[in-house]
Amino acid sequence: MSASKASVSLDVDNLWSYMKTHGDAGWESRPSYYDVFFPAALEALDALGIKITFFIVGIDAAAEANRAALRTAVDAGHEVGNHSHEHEPWLHRYTREQLAQEIATAEGHILAATGQKTVGFRGPGFSWSPDLLEVLLDRGYIYDASTLPTYLGPLARAYYFWTAKLTPEQREERGALFGTVRDGLRPVAPYRWRLPSGRSLLEIPVTTVPVIKTPFHLSYLLYLSRYSETLMMAYLRTAIASCRLMGVEPSFLLHPLDLLGGDQAPALRFFPGMDLSGRVKARTFHRVLRVLKDHFDLVNMSTHARAILSRPTLQDRAIDLCAA
Ligand SMILES: [Zn+2]
Repeated sequence: MSASKASVSLDVDNLWSYMKTHGDAGWESRPSYYDVFFPAALEALDALGIKITFFIVGIDAAAEANRAALRTAVDAGHEVGNHSHEHEPWLHRYTREQLAQEIATAEGHILAATGQKTVGFRGPGFSWSPDLLEVLLDRGYIYDASTLPTYLGPLARAYYFWTAKLTPEQREERGALFGTVRDGLRPVAPYRWRLPSGRSLLEIPVTTVPVIKTPFHLSYLLYLSRYSETLMMAYLRTAIASCRLMGVEPSFLLHPLDLLGGDQAPALRFFPGMDLSGRVKARTFHRVLRVLKDHFDLVNMSTHARAILSRPTLQDRAIDLCAA
């Protein structure tokens, strides 16, 4: 019998996108930390012996200065996914035409930079819409990974609004950032969206702890580690045990700030956890991924998606979006 799989992905939110979301001046010149981040990430992943999916923002793939770093990731055997072109976390406000443009543009730049045609998508800030899923199917994508089934989304948004400098219009645009209460009601395990067009698309949600649906990605674990490493490890083990008990194969989410310390990205000092050094973060990164690897066969997103699609049980797990 083969071990349960778990997928690992990393949303490569760049320096400028954090600055933009936060409302900081200077993001327009698209400052990048690719040349600092990718060597750190590849070293950390190599030490664990795992291959993951990097979700890339199109505009970063288009920048000549980022291409060498991106190349090293695919040359090391990692996969790339589409994380939109502009990284605006309100894709649910886009028309279908705008979405088609957004996805195609990002895909083209990522293909040109890496030689890989993306087959999976994750929306910025967990934003998505039925039209987005239709566009992904039009372009031959095999999965979407834009949802985070948690009840804590509205709380995360409140915290973000409290720390960011935003105009009333910007607040309006970011109204559904980090998801709605409705997102919390959706399943943790992968399922099929049934779309108005009659087609269906595999959804691989970012895994939250089954039943209680609290977050279970590395940024949250790092946050817990600030109180106590013992607490963090206990929480991680509980999350893994819940997944195994409920038969959920986790999809584990990472971010650049899980590895980069305040010493490597000083412009982001206002972010929680950025007072930690890159060295401290790399140690926690290794420790957490090591435990996951002890329990699951860690794979990239498309490998996980194809394994799920090959199972007949997926047929019974569908959510109808026709009435939405
Ligand atoms: Zn992102």
